[in-house]
Amino acid sequence: MDTLLTVEGLTKHFPVRGGWGRTGAPVRAVDGVDLTAGRGETLGIVGESGCGKSTTGRAILRLIEPTAGTVRVDGTDLAGLGPAELRRFRRRMQLVFQDPYASLDPRWTVERTLTEVLRTHTDLGRDAVRERIGDILETVGLSAHHRSRYPHEFSGGQRQRISIARALLLNPDLVVADEPVSALDVSVQAQVINLMKDLQQEFGMTYLFISHDLSVVRFISDRVAVMYLGRVVELADTADLFADPKHPYTRALLSALPVPDPAARRERVVLTGDLPSPSDPPAGCAFHTRCPLATERCRVERPETRVLAGESGPREVACHLAE
Ligand code: SF4
Ligand code: MG
Repeated sequence: MDTLLTVEGLTKHFPVRGGWGRTGAPVRAVDGVDLTAGRGETLGIVGESGCGKSTTGRAILRLIEPTAGTVRVDGTDLAGLGPAELRRFRRRMQLVFQDPYASLDPRWTVERTLTEVLRTHTDLGRDAVRERIGDILETVGLSAHHRSRYPHEFSGGQRQRISIARALLLNPDLVVADEPVSALDVSVQAQVINLMKDLQQEFGMTYLFISHDLSVVRFISDRVAVMYLGRVVELADTADLFADPKHPYTRALLSALPVPDPAARRERVVLTGDLPSPSDPPAGCAFHTRCPLATERCRVERPETRVLAGESGPREVACHLAE
């Protein structure tokens, strides 16, 4: 597959201010993430809240400045772009938020919200703008008469359609969707996910689909990256990951999922202990404080990422026991 996105060693540490002006240990929100996504592919990113998945998405889009690491989109190293070039490049990368209500200006009609995007990034004339807005609304399953309405006049699902329309207006190559359906009712979730799948079929953009919900990620993703404490601990083709999770953390996450066939039910792995603080991650394997298989080695030696052969392609696991 043609690679669109390459992320290497992406790191984001947030400084923490202690009392009386002292500086505490930084929060290692993202701590050396490597991943790639192909053109037209959906890469899911899963993990518990606080694992760094949203920060990863924002650092990739350079909405926050990474502490270290490289992000290349379609061969362009984003760190090498000046402010004006980055602004121009940005139209190729869009973000869809969890809560469309918070990301849409309540005082603006749909028309004004969408017009603003086109005015900022294109030199389309008035008629072309109107036409483009009519088209995009239709594309996301709304109609032209919705253009004069305000966000509060829509349902949650419709509002998410509007934010998807806004993200797609400029024909992006990459869309980072951060928990895009988590705030919606389950019945509406399916409609929005199906819409996103259809749009990808039609326009061929790459999705980075961030979610804590494994069922949703399984349904939409071609491959899945599992994050724990700012790192990718496992990355595999979706079918491989769900059929045969290799990392003990992935196994624990999946064992909590309901399965239709009781014979296929895995032994439930219950994680003990809370997620450690990302400002003071455990030494060695960061998962060792909760891992049922941890050995002495895990407490001192950080596991390298191993590349294994999966049924549907190479897969990566950061665990001493992977081989
Ligand atoms: Fe568990 Fe050790 Fe593997 Fe970490 S390296 S996941 S602690 S077995
Ligand atoms: Mg988040």
